[in-house]
Amino acid sequence: MNQADAQRIRGILLSIGYIETEKEEESDLILFNTCSVRQHAEERLLGRIRSLSPLKKQNPELLIGVSGCMAQNHKAELLKDLPLIDLVFGPNDINQLQKLLEEAKNKKALGNFACKGTFEGENTDGIVLTRPFSAMVNIIRGCTNFCTYCIVPYVRGPEVSRPIDELLKYISDLASKGVKEIMLLGQNVNVYGKDLGMTEGFATLLEEIEKINGIKWVRFLTSHPRDFTESAIKRIAKLSKVCEQYHLPFQAGNNRILQAMHRGYTRERYIELIKQVRENIPNVSLSTDIICGFPSETEEEFQDTIDLVKQIRYESAYMYYYSPRPGTKAASMKGQLSDEVKKGRLARLIEVQNQISNEESQKQIGKTFEVLVESSASRSENAMLGKTRTGRPVDFVGNSSMIGNFVKVKIDSARNWTLSGKIVEA
Ligand code: SAH
Ligand code: SF4
Repeated sequence: MNQADAQRIRGILLSIGYIETEKEEESDLILFNTCSVRQHAEERLLGRIRSLSPLKKQNPELLIGVSGCMAQNHKAELLKDLPLIDLVFGPNDINQLQKLLEEAKNKKALGNFACKGTFEGENTDGIVLTRPFSAMVNIIRGCTNFCTYCIVPYVRGPEVSRPIDELLKYISDLASKGVKEIMLLGQNVNVYGKDLGMTEGFATLLEEIEKINGIKWVRFLTSHPRDFTESAIKRIAKLSKVCEQYHLPFQAGNNRILQAMHRGYTRERYIELIKQVRENIPNVSLSTDIICGFPSETEEEFQDTIDLVKQIRYESAYMYYYSPRPGTKAASMKGQLSDEVKKGRLARLIEVQNQISNEESQKQIGKTFEVLVESSASRSENAMLGKTRTGRPVDFVGNSSMIGNFVKVKIDSARNWTLSGKIVEA
């Protein structure tokens, strides 16, 4: 979600005359687009901004800005804590960026921090894609789930879907600009359209996108296990453009913890969902998000998470230890665990999952994948990088004229998550 916001911010800045530089000392503007899902991200930002103090002394014209969820969360407070900052705005203020930058040249500038998301001003005119053949598309902003550990509903506001006709026009415009792959984004894509009165709106949206010429691959992130129905899976399974990559965060393998997290499903229902996905989508690649060390989680309850990971065998997983976010329900729950216990559990979980990921990677050897060629690898001129429909990076020998096109690659080796192979069909 933050990458999509950064893509928009970059497009706006380039369209009003800014030029990108890798060198901080050359910059007129340094903007941090931030996340506040975990404490660690917030701490890193504060350190990074403080380190810019000598630059600001050298170049008093330099503007330092903070955007994103952390900006939304702390608003003007950030200016008090760090006087180096000139500009603070939230995810729903991006369309005001040009005005805010003008303001920041004279005085400290603050966004409106509107709670509710909007799609206003989001068209393809000003869009500048890092890869011209691939785009992220927000289909729903905000979240109304209030999982007890999560800050997102507080900083991104309630669920707001983008009307389907607007979305289809936006995606058709992207296709006419050469985009072949789209990633549909939302905190819970499965409830797309609910606020607009649609039922199973997400499957309907995908069926309509299937008809758009030029778009070849469609991915989506994130699915919520509670809202993914078997009937939607069956409808989506029929669509040839939807990639076989399903990210289904389970968060915890124990029912008491799932309930305390307010996730709205049980371990048993989750396992059934995975069965439905695997039955309907052959060769599906599964990934997940997991939190360990939620308040009051016992060692036995944590073992239920390990057990689920072993049972499902994800190709990859994003794993975290619980980070209390002030203002959320879980932050004031009894039974907060020590960092030592949380980090110890995370280390054990990562070890189990890494082994599974490696074993699943080795299973890809000998298979042939359709690959979208994305870039040249830095190590040699003819080394190319691409991605499978299942979202795996693949390297192979080719040439840069292939970038943005599809090739077939037979896999002959695998290192961790990345596969290597040879082109069998250009
Ligand atoms: N909407 C997505 C998740 C968005 S946040 C979903 O519901 O799946 C991305 C991930 O960060 C979450 O899936 C969760 O695993 C993790 N996360 C969120 N809040 C957290 C916290 N307080 N501590 C640790 N991990 C957290
Ligand atoms: Fe956070 Fe839960 Fe919403 Fe995901 S569904 S963003 S974890 S509140």
